[in-house]
Amino acid sequence: MKIESLDAWIKPKSKPLLIAGPCSVESEEQMMQTAASLAKNGNVSALRGGVWKPRTKPGSFEGIGSPALKWLKQAGIANQLPVCTEVANAKHVEQALEAEIDILWIGARTTVNPFYIQDIADALKGVDIPVMVKNPIHPEVKLWVGALERINNAGITKLLGIHRGFYAYQSQPFRNEPKWEVFFELRRLLPELPVICDPSHIAGRSELIGEICQSALDLGMDGFMVESHIEPHKALSDPLQQLRPYDLDLVYRALEHRDEAIDDKRFIHQLEELRKQIDDVDNELLKLIAKRQDLSEAIGPVKYENQATIFQMKRWFKVLENRKKAGQELKLEDDMVHELFQLLHKYSIDTQIKNHH
Ligand code: PEP
Ligand code: MN
Repeated sequence: MKIESLDAWIKPKSKPLLIAGPCSVESEEQMMQTAASLAKNGNVSALRGGVWKPRTKPGSFEGIGSPALKWLKQAGIANQLPVCTEVANAKHVEQALEAEIDILWIGARTTVNPFYIQDIADALKGVDIPVMVKNPIHPEVKLWVGALERINNAGITKLLGIHRGFYAYQSQPFRNEPKWEVFFELRRLLPELPVICDPSHIAGRSELIGEICQSALDLGMDGFMVESHIEPHKALSDPLQQLRPYDLDLVYRALEHRDEAIDDKRFIHQLEELRKQIDDVDNELLKLIAKRQDLSEAIGPVKYENQATIFQMKRWFKVLENRKKAGQELKLEDDMVHELFQLLHKYSIDTQIKNHH
């Protein structure tokens, strides 16, 4: 995939990149006032505003629709900032292009569906506009990459990923779980793709936005898309997660930039030393896992000869309980031990199935 770097299409006012604006464009005044206030703070590189809002339940505010494109664009012109909006189908693309929207984004509920993405990609053929692709609502990195590829195949090279978290049945304290590992995988698969974080949709509550931005920055993300409203409590969509422009500025300026330590020799040495130790431990772990797999291989035929089922529920519950207890004594988190053994057990069962006869 040929992907252009960020500075080929957006002029960062400051590092990291900051895109901000209301969840929804509600009125000319709301958009204009929010934009003016954001621009005054000086860190914002582009304005966002939703015009067509994908809402979970009917009857919620579904956006003003195409008339709001004009208010968004005017707010951009007045403050000399590019503007972006969400498109979910070919018609949206057409209308956004006609209104001279500068950057498009594809929402989480659209990235899940290759038909929608292809429809949008077809509408974008021959158009040179930056497109930002949010992760799908569930943590499937291939779907995210697939969407980026479809858009890229249409000729778009100004691409960016937006990490906005993932729906989980119980994701407290977040609205959408960050699952940072999905971002790591995206970075591994597409190292040249700039990726920013949308802390607003991860948080669901404005108080958490600062700490999510800090984590995103520490993990090496390139910036943020944050929801900001001149009067959050009056917002017609997502009122709890929007920051006033003034508060967003405070959050942004309070971020700690830790990457400079990279030049520090002592730091590099310390890091290398610890990494070496981690590598050694990992190798030991692998040997132990291989030993465990050998035992799984041996247990399959024994169960078969005695006509016992491979999966024995009681035994599995006992294993889990005992491992958690042992883990607690070693100060390991229950969840970590649980997930780890679930994985080991899954592959142990697979091995036994293969060696059952
Ligand atoms: C949005 O950015 O307003 C939005 C609807 O986001 P998402 O697609 O991440 O839910
Ligand atoms: Mn929103």
